[in-house]
Amino acid sequence: MKEKKKSDIAVLLDYAGSYKGLTFLGLVLSGVAMLLGMLPYICIWLVARELIAVAPDWTKAADVGKYGVMAFAFSLAGILVYFAALMCTHLAAFRTASNIRKQGMAHLMKTPLGFFDSNASGLLRNRLDGAAAETETLLAHNLADIVGSATMFLAMIVLMFVFDWRMGAACLFAAVISVAAMFTMMGGKNAKLMQEYQAAQDEMSKAGTEYVRGIPVVKVFQQTVYSFKAFKEAIEDYSKKAELYTDGVCRVPQSVNLTFTEGAFIFLVPVTVLIAPGALESGNFAGFVTNFAFYAVFSAIVSTALARIMFAASGMMLASTALGRIAQVMAAPTLSVTDHPKKPSDYSIEFKDVSFTYEGADVPALDHVSFRAGQGQTVALVGPSGGGKTTAASLIPRFWDVTSGAVCVGGVDVREADPHVLMDQIAFVFQNNRLFKASIYENVRASRPAASRDEVRKALSAAQCDDILQKLPDGMDTVIGTEGTYLSGGEQQRVALARAILKDAPIVVLDEATAFADPENEALIQKAFRVLTKGRTVIMIAHRLSTVTGADKIIVLDNGRLAEEGTHEELKQKKGMYARMWADYNQAVKWRISASEVM
Ligand code: ADP
Ligand code: MG
Repeated sequence: MKEKKKSDIAVLLDYAGSYKGLTFLGLVLSGVAMLLGMLPYICIWLVARELIAVAPDWTKAADVGKYGVMAFAFSLAGILVYFAALMCTHLAAFRTASNIRKQGMAHLMKTPLGFFDSNASGLLRNRLDGAAAETETLLAHNLADIVGSATMFLAMIVLMFVFDWRMGAACLFAAVISVAAMFTMMGGKNAKLMQEYQAAQDEMSKAGTEYVRGIPVVKVFQQTVYSFKAFKEAIEDYSKKAELYTDGVCRVPQSVNLTFTEGAFIFLVPVTVLIAPGALESGNFAGFVTNFAFYAVFSAIVSTALARIMFAASGMMLASTALGRIAQVMAAPTLSVTDHPKKPSDYSIEFKDVSFTYEGADVPALDHVSFRAGQGQTVALVGPSGGGKTTAASLIPRFWDVTSGAVCVGGVDVREADPHVLMDQIAFVFQNNRLFKASIYENVRASRPAASRDEVRKALSAAQCDDILQKLPDGMDTVIGTEGTYLSGGEQQRVALARAILKDAPIVVLDEATAFADPENEALIQKAFRVLTKGRTVIMIAHRLSTVTGADKIIVLDNGRLAEEGTHEELKQKKGMYARMWADYNQAVKWRISASEVM
């Protein structure tokens, strides 16, 4: 872990922004409320003193009623001020949480799209949301309680001297022991153990989520022990750390803490008994008894205050982990946006000695790759799975930024172009292009919100989607995913193509899907491809080599390196990797045809 630069509270107050002042006001009010809450005990002391002074002739105790009213008024005022304090801290807390959400989302908007791909965006949002909510408790309640309790301690020290310092010290001593015990659980080397314990808890809940997510796979592949392994290890690790922390660290201090919290009077009684003879001799025994009565009652609020500090301390811990998670979101890489964007001069695409390594990977996914697609040309990327095709395509719209080298559009490094201009000029169809749960119309229109219904219809038609629209109950307005309206993979691909066609961008980046290749869909998809790619600069990742034979240039990527480059005919002549792939492909096609003949 990195060293903390700022305390958690300072970080939180930074998020509070203009509501910082309100937080402080709330904290001051909380201290005032605590003082007001102590005054009724002083009234009790006054009543006791008067009663004892006039005993046994109680009728002479004229002021008792007045003190009662005062005690009531102070209690009421204390409650009202505490209420006002909580109002302030809650307002500030809600605002702070909302600021955290806003700033976090604003930050996420600036991260490269590829970051979302590998960190499910919903998950990130949930994390941010949950963490922001967890900070609320700290700001709204815990801080106020800490300030209140600290005020009480100060007041107790003052009271020690006002009434009887020996009895006051006895009460305070119990409180000090209790607090000291609490801090030994959280400070020094125990702090590290506690962090490990919390980390293990985090890990366990993560593994639990993973486990639940993996259930379909577990079922399909009939896995048993192995799939439990990560989860089981996380539980065992947690159990070990929990035992170590609770048994090894917390047992004694927690017992001490609870003993002295619940029994704040534990020293008061012996001290009183010890000093009683002296009080008898001094002649002011009535005052002595009064003081004892006061401290006996007062020790009860010491317990309450201590319990509050305990809650506050656990609130601090929760908030601290929450802030850690917020910091993680805020640490997500952002795309640099240039202040002086350059205008692409045409619609060509060029990779200049591009290398790219995914974060955390040891080997580059792309290794010094250079090639060029002139305006209007089609360049196909082929090669074995994991060769780097999808990675290369993702660098063009800046899903990621290159590690070294440059990707240029129209002669301009994509990092020096205006991101909006860049996005306007490129249409993508990626393998994992998901349709969202909205009508087909909305799904297609997403690429160009200004498009009219008619234009959307034309794009769908050009993408060969007419048969899909016909069989859906509400045609273009059918909401995808509602009952009975699931689209097959090939159909989804065609709707995604319609989206790209509607965008009418001069550059098209295609990651062709293989998985959905039933022959009927395949023919339609090919037709849609032709509409989409006509007259445009195309970077196409092809899995069926039949689609690339007409490409202006074929790039063979193997293990991140450019293995071969040329037209279909040139590469066939070369008798290298492409020629082998071509032979394999034809073999597979023949095989498929003979298989269908048998049927
Ligand atoms: P292809 O599309 O040619 O099958 P990819 O570009 O998807 O290949 O992958 C190239 C390499 O980069 C592979 O080794 C793959 O494991 C790795 N890779 C792909 N995506 C990621 C990612 N999001 N994070 C880390 N590594 C990745
Ligand atoms: Mg791929």
